Amino acid sequence: MVLDWLAAGIDPQKSIIFVQSHVPQVTELHTLLSMVTPLSWLLRVPTFKEKVKMQPDNVNYGLVGYPVLQTADIALYKGEVVPVGEDQLPHLELAREIVRRFNSLFGFVFPEPQAKLTNFPLVAGLNGVQKMSKSYDNHIEISASPQEVSKRVMTAVTDPARKYRSDPGHPEICNVFRLHSSFTPARVEEIAVECRGARIGCVDCKKILAESISLNLEPFRERRADLASRPGYVNQVLADGANRAEAIAKETMKEAEGKMKLLQRADLD
Ligand code: SF4
Repeated sequence: MVLDWLAAGIDPQKSIIFVQSHVPQVTELHTLLSMVTPLSWLLRVPTFKEKVKMQPDNVNYGLVGYPVLQTADIALYKGEVVPVGEDQLPHLELAREIVRRFNSLFGFVFPEPQAKLTNFPLVAGLNGVQKMSKSYDNHIEISASPQEVSKRVMTAVTDPARKYRSDPGHPEICNVFRLHSSFTPARVEEIAVECRGARIGCVDCKKILAESISLNLEPFRERRADLASRPGYVNQVLADGANRAEAIAKETMKEAEGKMKLLQRADLD
């Protein structure tokens, strides 16, 4: 995953990359923030309701408390802007409510984080139901080979009303067409006309999409292979990132615990 990020262009000098659990302060802040978060706020989060439906026999605290942990992930580093997908907006709204509550009870420590959406705030998965996600197995790996991309794209759901090649299609409701907007922008108009006039079949349309996705991902695959050939590089990035993140986390915790008037161990000396 780290190789994916680095190959996609994230510069570890500018952006601190680390493993969440390597900075233990996040669990401390999670606990403190959970004390100021009413349960009713968490129960209304849409993703919680979705998870309850997905795993009704295992509805645990982790599911309901996840947005509080996510808030701690942001607040620990005093994040002001968070790049998110559209589905994460309710979580971010909740994060703002939680830090607002903390700040009003104990004094200002945490800025209220604002969302930064991309031009494609929601990419639908290949099944056309949920967002594209590894958890839903409806995704295309950004490191996938052209063959893998093609295999995945061929499984994509299209216009459900277009049963036969001779049926006119409705690109506006087709998932493959939405992906064309991202990956084949120069040809979307032409594809829309051909689809509506039943002049192109869904299999051919998917072939075009698979080719343009593979072409878009080619430079990424090359950079990734280069990074993967450097022994120890990723571990070095993560170790350095953990040190830099922890230094910030310690300062924030000192400030938050001070505002909460928690007795510090250092005060005992
Ligand atoms: S031709 Fe393309 S845009 Fe039209 S329904 Fe089939 S996959 Fe979708």
